[in-house]
Amino acid sequence: MEFLKKISARSRERDSKDEQPYLSIVIPVYNEADNIELLWQSLYKVLNQLGKTFEVIFVDDGSTDGTRETLANLAHDYPAVKAILFRANFGQSAAMAAGFKKSAGQVVIAMDGDLQNDPADIPKLLARLGEGYDVVSGWRKNRQDNYLIRKVPSKIANRIICSVTDVTLHDTGCSLKAFRGDLLRRISLYGELHRFIPALLRREGARIAELPVSHHARKFGTSKYNLSRTFRVIMDLITIRFLLRHLSAPLNFFATFSFFCLFTVLLLSGFGLFAIWHDRTPFSELNILVILILLLCVTGIQFLFYGLVAKLIVQSGSRRLSDFQLFTKQTVVTGYDNFAA
Ligand code: UDP
Ligand code: MG
Repeated sequence: MEFLKKISARSRERDSKDEQPYLSIVIPVYNEADNIELLWQSLYKVLNQLGKTFEVIFVDDGSTDGTRETLANLAHDYPAVKAILFRANFGQSAAMAAGFKKSAGQVVIAMDGDLQNDPADIPKLLARLGEGYDVVSGWRKNRQDNYLIRKVPSKIANRIICSVTDVTLHDTGCSLKAFRGDLLRRISLYGELHRFIPALLRREGARIAELPVSHHARKFGTSKYNLSRTFRVIMDLITIRFLLRHLSAPLNFFATFSFFCLFTVLLLSGFGLFAIWHDRTPFSELNILVILILLLCVTGIQFLFYGLVAKLIVQSGSRRLSDFQLFTKQTVVTGYDNFAA
């Protein structure tokens, strides 16, 4: 590590001159203690050769295996390293969202912290982005994971995701992706939405390309997901379909049903009144009509409340981000407001 400290002095100078780095690397990590230093070393080599300013943002998603301490040390020794420390395991999407929010780079690269993605692919991703794309998504053409329990379900999920989201990629599950920073920072991520970032960015008008990248088998630590993830992904698809259309205004969606119910109530009431007035039908004989009208009233009001609850959920989703610490050499701050400042 001694040689790295020496080179770091050079990068320190460069960082202080240029506040906004060209490149931000965002890496969510959860119990990856044995991978962090190795990853940082290979990242450092590649990034230094690029000759651009950079920052590497590790987001610790509530690890309990010493990952936090390793990150805090790295952030202390290397000014280009920033460590965001979650108090608990909030999930990969929340970790990525926090990293993206903190990133300042013109270009942001997301990757896993388990050495399965290769930093050597970063220059290729940047070159592709430079051809005029807003997103370049990695494609693990030669994926090094178990065939039956990982590759096959992933291929099926990929097909379904592509057809539902209208974004055609061979490998939506690959974490190694490059983005134009300003565009990426416009979307908000929560739940399990990190799998659908290209689809969310397509809504913002992003031009998306794909690039074959290397993939290595995991050497240290264990995968945080199993087969059950595939089913969660499929369930998420229903959500994304809904979100892509109604993310910004869920109340409108529910209000449509609500108004439909209330409009039907008006029609039925009119019909009832007409029957009473025209046929002299006693009010008591219109039981079914009255029950139907009451039922529709209740349903209509309920839809309106569903809409309000959906709006609350959308807004509070991002609030989970408030529960983390930001650790850099100079500062340890807590809370979202400080973080955003
Ligand atoms: N990860 C995370 N929070 C979680 C689960 C995973 O930050 O709750 C990180 C993990 O440390 C790794 C990346 O997300 O850096 C991808 O996870 P993993 O390698 O387990 O997924 P796989 O490659 O098996 O699909
Ligand atoms: Mg992995």
